[in-house]
Amino acid sequence: QTLFCSNAITLSCTKLDIGSRSLKVGGLGDVVTGLGKALQKRGHLVEIVLPKYDCMQYDRVHNLRVLDVVVESYFDGKLYKNKIWVGTVEGLPVYFIEPQHPDKFFCRGQFYGEHDDFRRFLFFSRAALELLLQSGKKPDIIHCHDWQTAFVAPLYWDLYAPKGLNSARICFTCHNFEYQGTAPASELASCGLDVHQLNRPDRMQDNSAHDRVNPVKGAVVFSNIVTTVSPTYAQEVRTAEQEKFQISLGVGGRGLHSTLSFHSKKFVGILNGIDVDAWNPAADTFLKVQYNANDLHGKTENKIALRKFLGLSNVDVRQPMAPHSSCVKLSAWKYHEHSFISKSTRDHMVGCITRLVPQKGVHLIRHAIYRTLELGGQFVLLGSSPVAHIQREFEGIANHFVNHDHIRLILKYDESLSHSIFAASDFFIIPSIFEPCGLTQMIAMRYGSIPIARKTGGLNDCVFDVDDDTVPLQFRNGFTFLTPDEHGVNSALDRAFNYYRNNAEVWQQLVQKDMNIDFSWESSAEQYEELYLKSVARARAAASRA
Ligand code: ADP
Repeated sequence: QTLFCSNAITLSCTKLDIGSRSLKVGGLGDVVTGLGKALQKRGHLVEIVLPKYDCMQYDRVHNLRVLDVVVESYFDGKLYKNKIWVGTVEGLPVYFIEPQHPDKFFCRGQFYGEHDDFRRFLFFSRAALELLLQSGKKPDIIHCHDWQTAFVAPLYWDLYAPKGLNSARICFTCHNFEYQGTAPASELASCGLDVHQLNRPDRMQDNSAHDRVNPVKGAVVFSNIVTTVSPTYAQEVRTAEQEKFQISLGVGGRGLHSTLSFHSKKFVGILNGIDVDAWNPAADTFLKVQYNANDLHGKTENKIALRKFLGLSNVDVRQPMAPHSSCVKLSAWKYHEHSFISKSTRDHMVGCITRLVPQKGVHLIRHAIYRTLELGGQFVLLGSSPVAHIQREFEGIANHFVNHDHIRLILKYDESLSHSIFAASDFFIIPSIFEPCGLTQMIAMRYGSIPIARKTGGLNDCVFDVDDDTVPLQFRNGFTFLTPDEHGVNSALDRAFNYYRNNAEVWQQLVQKDMNIDFSWESSAEQYEELYLKSVARARAAASRA
C-alpha cells in the first residue's frame, strides 16, 4: 500500500493567526492554520509562505531565523534581493519573505489598506514563486488565498512553469468576493506579466472597467481549482445581483458571476471549520467555569458571572449552591434542573459578537436589541466598527443603555470577553445580509448558545431551523429567517423565545445537540484533499498521455 503524500504550499498575505489571540484580525488567518494543521495530520507536507510584515508578533513563531540565501526577484525591470526567514507556527513551517525594496512594502505597521497594495502584493507573488523555484521545491499543490496572492496563478503558467517549476496544480480560495483588488491594467507589467495578453475579457480584464485588471478574475481563469468558503456562498456568487440594496451591500459575485458560472466545473464551496482546541468550553481558561454538554451547570454560572461583570440584573436567576461543597455533583444536578425548568422572564440572554459593518446587518442587530427588550430578555453586544457613522450610532445606543438592567453594548475588540459571551448567552444572533462562511454561528453552538441566523452563505449551510420539516430532525439546530428586515428578525427571535420558555427539557436537548456538532477542520480538510488528489491525478494522466 502506498501512502500518497502531497506537498502543499500555501501562499497567503493575511496575518496568520500566529497564536496571538489578541491580534487576530479576521477569519483568514484561522483558515490557513486550521486547514494546514488538518492536512498535516492527514500525512501531507504543508508549508506556508507569507510576507514578513513588521506588525506580526514574531515571539509566537518558534525557532525564527534568517536563511543564509538571498532570493532575487524581478520587479519594474530590475532584480531585487529578498531576505528569507523561516520558523514554525503551531507546528507548521512558515517562510517569511522580506523584500529589500526601497518602498519597504511590508513595513507599514498594518497588513492591508495601503495606497500601493496592488504593487506590494504583485511583488510578493512573484518573489514567492521565485523562492519555490530557487529552492528546488516540487509542490503538488500551490494554494493561494484572496486577491493578494491571486497573481500567482497567471505568473505560474506564463512565467514559472516554462522555467521548470511545473510540478504543481494551482488552487485559489476566495474568502470574500467583495475584495477583488482591481487596478489600472498597466500596473500589471511591474511583475513581468504581459499586459496586452492578459487584459482580455476571457483573462484578467475586469468585467465592468475595461482598462482595469482584476486579480480575482485572473485567479479564477488560471487556477486548476477555485474554491470559496461555503456551498451556499458559491451558489450566491454565481448569480447576478438584482436589487439595488444587494449591489450596495456587496451581495453576490460583485461582477464576477458570469466568470464564475463559465468556470463552474472547477469552482466549489467548502465550509470552513473552527479551531476546536481554542474554542472548547470544557477547557476554556477565559471562562469562570468550564462546562460540557453533559454538565451545563457551568454555563449558568458563566451567565451569572457575566451579568455581574457587566452590571446587568441577576435578580431572576437562582443562585447555584457552592460549587466546592462535598456534594458538588448533587447540587450541580439540582441547580441544573432549576436552571432549565424554572425559567423566569429575564433569564434569556441574546449574545452578538461582530464587526459592525453593513454586511453584518447592523440595522437588524439594532432592531434585535429593542425586540429582545420587548420580549423580556437580555442583550449583550460586543462589536466595533471601522465605519465612523455606524460606530457613532452604536455609541449612541450604548450610552442610552449604559445603566440599563438588561442591555449592554461593549464597543471594542475583546477576545477574552467574547469567550465569556459565547458561554453566557442562550441565543446568538447573526442577521447578516451576506456571509461567505461565518465562524460565530459555529463557535456559539459549541458553547451551547443557539444561533438565530439569516439564511445566507455559510449560515445557511450550518444553521437549520428547528421548525423546518424539509430538514431531518437530527440536523435542526437553530432559528433562521430569510427576509433581511425587521419582520424576518421578529419571526425567528419570537419563536426562539417561545421555544426556550415552553419546554425546558426540549431546550436542553437542543443545547446539548448543538454542543456535540463536529465543527473541526477534519471534514473540510478531507474535501480539500479530495480536490487536490483529483487535480493531481488528472495532471499526471494528461502528462502520461502526452
Ligand atoms: P468576519 O471574519 O467577517 O469578521 P467571522 O464570523 O468569520 O466574521 O469571524 C469573526 C471572528 O472575530 C469570530 O471569532 C468572532 O468571535 C471574532 N470577533 C468579532 N468581533 C469581535 C470583537 N469585537 N471582540 C472579540 N472578538 C470578535
